Formats: sequence, structure tokens, C-alpha cells
Amino acid sequence: MNDKVSSAKQQIQEISSLLEEYNYQYYVQDAPTVPDAEYDRLFHTLKQLETDYPELLSANSPTQKVGGTPLSKFEQVTHKIPMLSLDNVFDETSLNDFMKRVMDKSTLDETAFCIEPKLDGLAASIIYENGLLVQAATRGDGLTGENVTENVKTIANLPLRLRGDNIPSLLEVRGEVFMLKAGFNKLNEGLVAAGEKPFVNPRNAAAGSLRQLDSKIAASRPLAFYCYSVGVFEGELANSQYQRIEQLKSWGLPVSSEVKRVVGEDACHDFYQNISEKRPSLAYEIDGVVYKVDDIKLQQEMGFVARAPRWATAYKFPAEEAVTVVENVEFQV
Ligand code: NAD
Repeated sequence: MNDKVSSAKQQIQEISSLLEEYNYQYYVQDAPTVPDAEYDRLFHTLKQLETDYPELLSANSPTQKVGGTPLSKFEQVTHKIPMLSLDNVFDETSLNDFMKRVMDKSTLDETAFCIEPKLDGLAASIIYENGLLVQAATRGDGLTGENVTENVKTIANLPLRLRGDNIPSLLEVRGEVFMLKAGFNKLNEGLVAAGEKPFVNPRNAAAGSLRQLDSKIAASRPLAFYCYSVGVFEGELANSQYQRIEQLKSWGLPVSSEVKRVVGEDACHDFYQNISEKRPSLAYEIDGVVYKVDDIKLQQEMGFVARAPRWATAYKFPAEEAVTVVENVEFQV
């Protein structure tokens, strides 16, 4: 092994063990110790090293895995279709590269994208049988999640029973559990008034509230849910991502009103620009925009890599530099 390769090997080992520790703190303990921007920087350095030295890529690398191990205090749920993460890009050039890759694969006259806000919470899978909510689980490590059915049933904007026509007899909806900004601020004020630690941000507040054994605690927290995809189903669904979201909405499921179907790179960039400007006035936190191939057949043809679909990417907003300092208050995460 020459010097360059052995130095890359050492760097890969160091970054991997750091990321493993950060994953444990973030996904398992709901208690991150470094900013997301620092995590993302290390993750991308690792990815670049593995691209430059493919012989050093291990199946156990953090770049090949999703989330964290589910907590044993919850009953485990096996996802029939793995719950993956998303690849992400941080600039227009990389977004254009993604779009070009999609268009090269497409035989359609026009390639449409379904563009969605990237909600900043945690992913959940919710199963409806004959229109009734029967099971809810966290993403966990992508293959196995935590059974949080009783907690999810307490989420105010989520129906326990679907309504409308042509509902699939089995329908797994996937989406994000999150906390509205106003609810989060009120929750923190209450915690401080009661002499307890406030949460550091709405994402951690949502994760900490959903992953409670006592569903009364989850019920007391202002959680909300928006759907963004379908997992397993038995019945008929549209062949367009956007139309599927519309179908979910027609059955009473909550979806973000910001979701749009657009054609062409310019329209994609306009969406990003508009929602960046709107972001401060949205009722919930978003940390980017998700671009998904609209045509489900093309999605299936493009398939997946280890931890993410090839037909979607997240364009994350630049990290916010501002740090809020509240004197004499210790935060819980
Ligand atoms: P991610 O958050 O970058 O993207 C995937 C997730 O986005 C999905 O699982 C889903 O939950 C969510 N999502 C929101 N809106 C969506 C939509 N419209 N369609 C599809 N999915 C949508 O990936 P991740 O694997 O959950 O987490 C990785 C990120 O978490 C890192 O980039 C980092 O920012 C953060 N992280 C931070 C630390 C830390 O220590 N600070 C540790 C681990 C991870």
C-alpha cells in the first residue's frame, strides 16, 4: 500500500468512527453534540475519499447506512420496503448534475419533478388496513424501526380512519413527524417555567416526544405529521408522485401545501428561490427542498444505491450561522 493510500485509509477510519459516534448520539439518544453542518462536512469528506479510493469502501461505512439502531425498549417493526435516506446536494451545479442524470435515463418528452419542502423532523411509517390506522413505526436503521403506534395515534392532524373512494385495502404512508414552530416555542416556555430543560430545536423536540414509552407524554406534545410517500399497498394508486400526494390528501391525510409538480430546470430553481424566501414565514421548520422524479415507472427503473434512491435528491439550505444563546438555560435535546 503506498503512502497516499495508507493515509486515506487512516482518514477513513478516523472519520468513520467519529460519524458512528455522532449517529449514535443523534439517532439513538436524540442528543446530538455537533451541529448538522459539521456532520455533513465530515460525511462529504468521507464520501469523496471513498470515491477517490474505491478499494477502501467498506459495506459498514456510515455512507452505506441509514439512521441508527432502534431502541430495545420499543417493540421492533420490520419494514417490508426499506426506509431509506436521501442523497443531498449543496449547490446549483450539483443539482443540475442530478437533473441531467435523470434526463439521460428518461425516454419521456419532458421530465417532470415533484418538488417538496424538506421537513425537519423524523420519518415515520404508518399503516392503514381497510382505512384504519393499525401500526406506526420510526425509520430506525431503515430495515427495522420502533413501534410507536400509540404515540402516533395522538397526533392531532392525523386521521385514525381514512375517508373517500378507492382507498387501497392496505396502505403504508410515509412522512415526517414534526413540531410546528409556535407549538415548539410554547412547549419550551412551559418547560422553562416548570424548571425543566427546554429542547434545542423542533427536530429534537419531535424525536424526543415521539420516542416516549408513555403515550400520555407524546399526547401532551404539539406534534404534527405530513405524508410524502407510499410504501407497501394493495390496490390502485396513480403513477405520478404528485398525483399520489393528491390522492393521499383526498383520503384525509395531511400533506404540505407547498408540494408542486414542475417541468424543467428553471422551474426547479424558481421553486427553491421562492421557498427560501418564504421559509421564515412557514409554520414549520424546513432544511431544504426535495426533488423527486414524478414518474413512478422512471423511479422504479432508476432504483436505489446503498442508502438512498437514485431518483431523488435533497438540496439543503446553507447552514444557519446564527447561534441563539440563552443565558443560564441548559437545553435538552
Ligand atoms: P436527511 O434528513 O438528510 O434526509 C432524509 C430524510 O429526510 C428522510 O428520512 C425523511 O425523514 C426526511 N424528509 C423530509 N422531507 C421529506 C420529503 N419531502 N421527502 C422525503 N423525505 C423527506 O437524512 P437522514 O438520514 O435522516 O439524516 C442525515 C442528516 O441528519 C445529516 O445530513 C445531518 O444533517 C443530520 N445528522 C446530524 C447528526 C449530528 O450529530 N448533528 C448526526 C446524524 C445525522
